[in-house]
Amino acid sequence: MRPILSDVIANERLRARLGDELLAGKLSHAYILSGEGGFGKHTLALHLAAALVCEHQKDAHKALPCLECPTCRKILAGNSPDVIYVNRGDKATLGIDPIRELRQDVYIPPNDLSVKVYIIEDAHLMTPQAQNAFLLTLEEPPPYVLFLLLCENPSLMLETIRSRAPVMRLEPVPNELILQYICKKVPEARRMLEDDRGALEELVVAADGSIGRALELLDPKLYKPLSERREIARAFARLCASPKNTGDAMRLLNSLGSRRDELIEQFGTILLCLRDLLLCKQTENAPLCFFSDREEASSLAYTFTTPALLSLCDSVSDATDRLRANANVRLTVTALAQDCNLL
Ligand SMILES: [Zn+2]
Repeated sequence: MRPILSDVIANERLRARLGDELLAGKLSHAYILSGEGGFGKHTLALHLAAALVCEHQKDAHKALPCLECPTCRKILAGNSPDVIYVNRGDKATLGIDPIRELRQDVYIPPNDLSVKVYIIEDAHLMTPQAQNAFLLTLEEPPPYVLFLLLCENPSLMLETIRSRAPVMRLEPVPNELILQYICKKVPEARRMLEDDRGALEELVVAADGSIGRALELLDPKLYKPLSERREIARAFARLCASPKNTGDAMRLLNSLGSRRDELIEQFGTILLCLRDLLLCKQTENAPLCFFSDREEASSLAYTFTTPALLSLCDSVSDATDRLRANANVRLTVTALAQDCNLL
């Protein structure tokens, strides 16, 4: 069978449905591509756009899109003037202005392709006013137009939009496919696979079904390498076990990170470390997921009582919840340090 949209990972049913509609020439003129951040909405949108105009579209022996012809390459590189992004810029919502621009632009025929594809990012953040304006275009679009609304929560879209744009729901990507993908694309992931497979697997679990998230976690510009986060987590546990030393505590607190998402990641690693210590206290042969050296885990666990470990886990979980609920970053770290008797 001809591979269609095969570079989009997982999501077989969704790809099969879009593939059938594509080959039968029965694509809708609008789709809502729904899924959490990093689930592959952008990739699917670009590959669908390329599949529509791929120069090998009639060649049943080639994958569709072929990803090799000049048209496919231009689209995937983001260089086609007929694939147009609509987004909210630095605003919190997608307001009426970009939609007004779209409504004017839509009647200008395509430049060099047979279609014009509008990729509307964060469509769930469209204001009701913008959605109503968009609806007018969606009701009677020019024949060459395809709207792809990327959306994390379709229930925030007006029913009238949802009834005209089928919702295509992207599923979380299974862990083994994330692992394969990042090892194919990122040299650092291949290095970890050789040197520290456990850490790479932990990163995949933390990505929670999202390829985009896995790639972010591997990006040293965004996050500290996992090995460093693990070292900080160990230091945190050791410091909680030992008598107060304000200098060490301050150094540790500064090393935790300053960005909200970075701290949430770091707290997650600390929790894994603390849970291993708790397990060590309960049974001798419990499977550990943070420590590879059981001796190290046991001797560190020995310095805590079980209630003390439980209370540390609670404090770190609470701090994570507060960060997720948008609490002030610095105050949250200070409160955590006090909860854990570090300061
Ligand atoms: Zn092509």
